[in-house]
Amino acid sequence: MSKPQYLSKSDFQLATSCVQKLVYKKKKYNSSNDTDEYMMMLAQGGYIVGKMATMLYPEGIEVAGSTTESLLKTKEYIQNHDSITLFEPTFEFNQRLSRIDIFVKNGNNIQLIEVKSASSDSTNPNKDSTKLKKYIQDISFQYTILKDVFPDCEITCLLLMPDKSMRTSIDGLAGWFRLIDKSISQDEEYEVPNEIITRETSKFQKPKVEFVFDNHPNRKEYIDRLRNEGILNYLDVTDKAKVHESSIRAKSELYIKILNNGLETSAEDFQISKSCKSCEYHVSGDFNSGFFECWKSAKEFPSIFDLYYGGTVGSNKYLNELIINGKYEFIDIQTEQLCKNDGSIGTRNVRQLIQYENTIANQEWISDNMKQELDSWKYPLHFVDFETYTGAMPFHKGMRPFELIAFQWSCHTIDAPGAQPRHEEFIYTDTEFPNFKFAESLMNHIGMTGTPLMWATHENTVLRTIYYQMDEYGYQNPELKDWLQKTIKDKDLGTEGRLIDMNAFTLNHYFHPEMKGKTSIKKVLPAIWNNNQFLHEIPYFQKYSIKDLEDQVLDPYDTLFNLANTKMRELDEEKEIQSQDVKGGTGAMRAFYRIRFDNSITKEHKEELKHRLLEYCKLDTMAMVIIWFYWKHTSELSN
Ligand code: SF4
Repeated sequence: MSKPQYLSKSDFQLATSCVQKLVYKKKKYNSSNDTDEYMMMLAQGGYIVGKMATMLYPEGIEVAGSTTESLLKTKEYIQNHDSITLFEPTFEFNQRLSRIDIFVKNGNNIQLIEVKSASSDSTNPNKDSTKLKKYIQDISFQYTILKDVFPDCEITCLLLMPDKSMRTSIDGLAGWFRLIDKSISQDEEYEVPNEIITRETSKFQKPKVEFVFDNHPNRKEYIDRLRNEGILNYLDVTDKAKVHESSIRAKSELYIKILNNGLETSAEDFQISKSCKSCEYHVSGDFNSGFFECWKSAKEFPSIFDLYYGGTVGSNKYLNELIINGKYEFIDIQTEQLCKNDGSIGTRNVRQLIQYENTIANQEWISDNMKQELDSWKYPLHFVDFETYTGAMPFHKGMRPFELIAFQWSCHTIDAPGAQPRHEEFIYTDTEFPNFKFAESLMNHIGMTGTPLMWATHENTVLRTIYYQMDEYGYQNPELKDWLQKTIKDKDLGTEGRLIDMNAFTLNHYFHPEMKGKTSIKKVLPAIWNNNQFLHEIPYFQKYSIKDLEDQVLDPYDTLFNLANTKMRELDEEKEIQSQDVKGGTGAMRAFYRIRFDNSITKEHKEELKHRLLEYCKLDTMAMVIIWFYWKHTSELSN
């Protein structure tokens, strides 16, 4: 007999975004989220929060095992106990399946507790209403099942989340938990946390979380301290969950019908649209992916999706109109449409038109006043990049959940026209709160002269956060306070700051067809680097100039990644740890966490991670130098 097809909470969420995704998930199609680092990071933060939440219930019993085993065990526990607390029990009713984080039953009163790793704010519980809406839908789905299973019980629905208004009194709280990356075999029906709902569960490896004081003689004292911290906050959403009950039931019925009978492609609720742009069933390079099954007549990923802010054109309707008419190519876009409702040309439209005209002509574009703007940047030029950490569990005494930690900066400085870039860096992986040391070292390096440059606005946000943290932590350094005040752009202070955003500069002054609708440094660098051989001859850029066997120039990020990863993979394999790279902000956060708290890896391993962090941050600022150098050179030639 074949296994029953269940509709789980994560299936419900996926089907709500597109019912076809539910079909693909059940068919186990490849999903691009399988390897999404950011989702993994969220999940890992979630597992630690999940473990901490269970520690608030010392009487709780974990219901482990596959869905079938868990269903049986849950039934047994409920039959034999009038009052009980269970972790991850499984309930089923008419093909709807629910694995609840924490289930507390006292006679006829039930608490349904959903643990979420995202932050809440007990001083303003309804602040992030979009996120909350999603969570309420989740808990409402669980509520309908419990209501059917326990018709005579009163059910309270609670969200349990880190409270970002609370400060921890524990130094190194995040280190009280340890993630074990080794995979744990799971059956395909295992419910995964909501943050990773679209990941194929059969491929997903659930890390185990250990409480490091589990075998400590004072274990109880440690647990009591955790319980008294109040870092996790309850939010009663019972009334809200009840409001959604009827719509959740109606949708569940529809989705179960699809699970049982498949999808009728004529159904109104399944239509290709502009939302497909971010579909997880588009797997780069795979023409047999779910995406191309939906987009039958598309030979490649539709180039209309490349348009800068394309989804917003024509009151957000234009792309869908093109799609309905079978027009998927960039050339199908009509430039008359690239305007505001009143016919005027807005800032985004300007960029869209630049992109359109120069993509069709297959040519680079440089603004008429690029040279003038570049010439206005005062030397020394400081190209800076930061690496930061924000996680559910605070690292330091006095910190709040999701409070920012700034642990690394890199800066390439060009002192004067024609000078070689000079590199300085800072990294702090020791046990103290690093933010003030971080800012002081940057202040000592940059001072008040010249032009600090960043890519996008993160660096300004970080320095702004540190400025306000000085008051919150009572940190005294008038010189630093003054420097931060003069450096940051801040509405409340009424300051414009000194930092120049090269991303914004790109939007106004530069386009290359290979960038398509993007202006991130990871898109701008290859477009310039791959098309300008002369840059490879510049002595201080040569290190990053590597070609593959077909004489194709490699992206410097890939070059660095491949070199560094060989060493890391060896170290990871020795420990049977999933190899994870440092590439990108999330990879850097993960590496920082491992250096600080993962005692299962060797000192050598940590040193290697640190080395990689330094190399990647250094490459980011060198990439900024390469781009600036090219702009300077080219704008001078064209004048
Ligand atoms: S490509 Fe579009 S229609 Fe197909 S599954 Fe993805 S979002 Fe749904």
